[in-house]
Amino acid sequence: MAPAVDSEVDVLIVGAGPAGLMLATWLSQLQIRTRIIDKRSTKIMAGQADGFQCRTLEILDSFGIDRIWKESNHMLEVCFWNPDENGVIRRTVRAPDTPTGFSRFTECVLHQGRMERFFLDHLKENGDRIRVERPIVPSVLQIDEAEVTNPAAYPVTLKLQHLTDEQATPDQGNNIPNGLFRSNLTADDTEDLIRKSSGKEGTEETIRAKYVVGCDGAHSWTRKQLGFKMEGEHTEIIWGVLDIVPITDFPDIRVRCLVHSASAGSLMVIPREKRVVRLYIQLKEVGAGGGAVDRSKVTPDQILKAAQKIIAPYKLDYEQCDWFTAYQIAQRVSDGFDKFDRVFLAGDAVHTHSPKAGQGQNVSLQDSYNLGWKIGLVARGQASPEILKTYATERQQIARDLIAFDQKFSKLFSGRPAKDVSDETGISLEEFRKVFHQGAVFAAGLSVDYGPNILVVKEDEGKEEGVRCRPDLAKKLKIGMRLPSHKIVNQSDALPIELQKLLPSDGRFRLVVFPGDISKPEIYSRFEKLGEYLSSPDSVVSSYTPQNTPRDSVIEVLTIHSAKRTEIELQPLPEAFHPFDKAKGWDYWKVYADDESYHEGHGQVYENFGIDKDEGCIVVVRPDGYVATTVAVEDTRSLEAYFRRFMIKL
Ligand code: FAD
Repeated sequence: MAPAVDSEVDVLIVGAGPAGLMLATWLSQLQIRTRIIDKRSTKIMAGQADGFQCRTLEILDSFGIDRIWKESNHMLEVCFWNPDENGVIRRTVRAPDTPTGFSRFTECVLHQGRMERFFLDHLKENGDRIRVERPIVPSVLQIDEAEVTNPAAYPVTLKLQHLTDEQATPDQGNNIPNGLFRSNLTADDTEDLIRKSSGKEGTEETIRAKYVVGCDGAHSWTRKQLGFKMEGEHTEIIWGVLDIVPITDFPDIRVRCLVHSASAGSLMVIPREKRVVRLYIQLKEVGAGGGAVDRSKVTPDQILKAAQKIIAPYKLDYEQCDWFTAYQIAQRVSDGFDKFDRVFLAGDAVHTHSPKAGQGQNVSLQDSYNLGWKIGLVARGQASPEILKTYATERQQIARDLIAFDQKFSKLFSGRPAKDVSDETGISLEEFRKVFHQGAVFAAGLSVDYGPNILVVKEDEGKEEGVRCRPDLAKKLKIGMRLPSHKIVNQSDALPIELQKLLPSDGRFRLVVFPGDISKPEIYSRFEKLGEYLSSPDSVVSSYTPQNTPRDSVIEVLTIHSAKRTEIELQPLPEAFHPFDKAKGWDYWKVYADDESYHEGHGQVYENFGIDKDEGCIVVVRPDGYVATTVAVEDTRSLEAYFRRFMIKL
């Protein structure tokens, strides 16, 4: 081995799958010194995850990554097929795939490799600060416990092995359970493939990090070093997956379908981009000889034959197969998500489950979306390390909910359809429909509701510290959940815009001020007073903004009033609401009206959030777009008390 090279880094990410790349994107945005390593020579080329849920699309959009939405296949309809009294499959339900009013996005499908490509491009276009280093594996992880509470310390030491390409490429024989290298798809990854040698192959280096995040998938090496165990069940069910261009007379091949046959099992149809359709088929639990199925021996032809039986009397065949796999699922959650608030785990490293509800990739991305800004603010010295504890409490609960949801959903999917109302062991169509619908909010990623903690004040929990939370002022807005989007109109230029577009993922907290109808003098005067406070040297904005940085760089103030837009002028409003910069002039993108737009209707945001136009309120929004708390417009003390809990004056 070559001599060890010592270096230091703020954050080391192990694994460049969806979870690792999302984290790298956050940390690049926040300009944190970060390295990300992966044991494979290239990113994933085809297969694995393909479903993007509403919340994931909102999050990606908040980073300016909109190529998934543009390139993907949008799944707008879902159909259920069930056997009739003669055992012949018939379409029994047709419904919107994403229920209406959930989000400005609907579920869409594109293979995971494209998303990884978009992340890599985004990292490059946005400063090229972080590049995935391949093929590298860590071989030793040590934590200096004496240093974990010292914010300036680099208490985690890792040895990294730089592999050769041969070492990084797994055996491509039959024994590849996740199908990772079975693809014959795509030509867009040339850059990865011709990656120049780093010249470090076969060497070892030792690095010290402030934080390490294991995003290294279901077999996580990092998790094993921390001594955590996956708890839950390992099912015997084998799933076959085919990505094919189908040749079929089945009428619903281009909509999402759940097909339950009378006796041949069930099948899920996922219509994809470029004429491709993914079929998920539950294979029998035992092999032909009575023993367990050896999934490494499963062939595309076997999976196709199983699908043909389910979909009969319709015909199904293909000429082109892009990817296939056969895999077994475990529904498990790790018993730990972090150690000493210094080493964290995210994604499949802490939860695994079936792929049917399309959750794995989405929840994995959202894990590191939850973590990234917290590590970023702490590494910058802006926030107390205490906020890091909320990662485990917030995400562990989501992982448990995910497994519970998956168990319910899997049972429905795997169960035998009921023959009639007296058939108690079968699953009735009504039951299926009910659970499917109930699960839709969860599956869309929109049921996430973070409980009270240092960052979330829902009712009286912050009272002793002086936070007077007023959920009654925004009755339909849920503290702890993501701020929903509605159209509002820019005061300065009449442009209608989605509220979420004002919340880019850039590490800032936001005070979204709903002053009410500021054309009324008494309401305006309350608003004006708030403006005076926000401009004062002791305000939350002034206190936490370092000198010589823009006034909105730590806490941004946005205003949505409910007066008629044409009755208000921007210029006379207090400067706190549209700050002035010597080089750039006034900021025209901070004051909005809840009013009718010329071409895109009226978003009715006050009504949708349950805000009274005379009372108003201030909604504090976390950097990840979740509602932190709600206070009265005049209650600046509560704002101070809220931020005092974890913010550091620089
Ligand atoms: P991974 O994607 O597993 O990434 C881990 C990364 O870490 C890899 O790049 C790996 O090379 C690297 N790595 C591992 N160990 C080390 C190490 N020791 N050192 C360095 N690097 C390491 N999810 C959905 O949301 N929707 C779907 O429709 C869906 N369908 C699926 C279909 C199939 C067939 C499969 C197998 C999975 C599917 N999933 C789906 C799940 C989804 O692929 C995963 O949940 C998701 O990829 C998890 O992301 P991750 O970043 O946590 O882990």
